[in-house]
Amino acid sequence: MPEPIQRRTALKGISAALATPFLGDKILGADKPVLRVAHITDVHLKNDLGAPEKFAKCLRNIQDQNPKIDLILNGGDIVFDMNKENLSAIDAQWALWNKIVKQESSLPMHYCLGNHDVWWHENTKDQPIYGKQYALNQLQLTSPYHSFVSKGWKIILLDSTHLDIDNTWYIGKLGDQQFAWLEKELNETPATMPVLVMSHIPILTALLMIEDNIVNRWEMLGGDMHTDTAKIIGLFYKHKNVKLCLSGHLHMRDKVLYNNVTYLCNGAVSGAWWNGIRRECPAGYAVLDLYADGRFDERYVAY
Ligand SMILES: [Zn+2]
Repeated sequence: MPEPIQRRTALKGISAALATPFLGDKILGADKPVLRVAHITDVHLKNDLGAPEKFAKCLRNIQDQNPKIDLILNGGDIVFDMNKENLSAIDAQWALWNKIVKQESSLPMHYCLGNHDVWWHENTKDQPIYGKQYALNQLQLTSPYHSFVSKGWKIILLDSTHLDIDNTWYIGKLGDQQFAWLEKELNETPATMPVLVMSHIPILTALLMIEDNIVNRWEMLGGDMHTDTAKIIGLFYKHKNVKLCLSGHLHMRDKVLYNNVTYLCNGAVSGAWWNGIRRECPAGYAVLDLYADGRFDERYVAY
């Protein structure tokens, strides 16, 4: 379910009361987070609906946070939509993206791609920009999945979006090659190093059960949540240092805890695609305080 902000505040109050030893450490300054991250997702930028001004406001809001944010994780659906668009419309969306980020943000930004950052245009299959290559070029990335280490945390950025078996539309999955890479990546990460994973499509979410007019069953589409969830969870189960998975895609917010891994779907910077709020979830982004021992605090900022 999208988590009301009040509930989070209430829970925080309870955990603070229960965790007296940590509180003592905090007073002494020994229990400070080592890394402060802003997770933005589903910006869907285009020159319409006031989106450029609102996104600039969001970036300023991030940089006004106190204590300061160290870096931004961008969970994809960066531009409004590349699917079925012609090249000039796509060029304009990316030029706008690069301009605003350059003008309004001085923070490092690390990306994964969303389904709207991929060009599945039927007539462009033989062109070099087909698929993910155009967005990778714009973001100066050599691979749609990658990792880095910051302040003792391993950050893994996954590529959720792949063509379905009939090759016509996307579903959420890693595919064999990326899964093997993830397996190797986790094997090579020290067991004491906490891991944060970001994907565009949620690996695990309860949000798909929020539907209107359900009669006797829910329908879950392979494009709404990863279809290889069980396989990924099985891998995480072998690596207890995987602590936190971030996603977007659904433009709503929830928090699922499974096998001590927290799965956070963090709303959308664009809310309902720059048309107000999506169900009960306002436009926003998440702030995450990451501690050396793998703990974290999180909150949603309706900027
Ligand atoms: Zn989206």
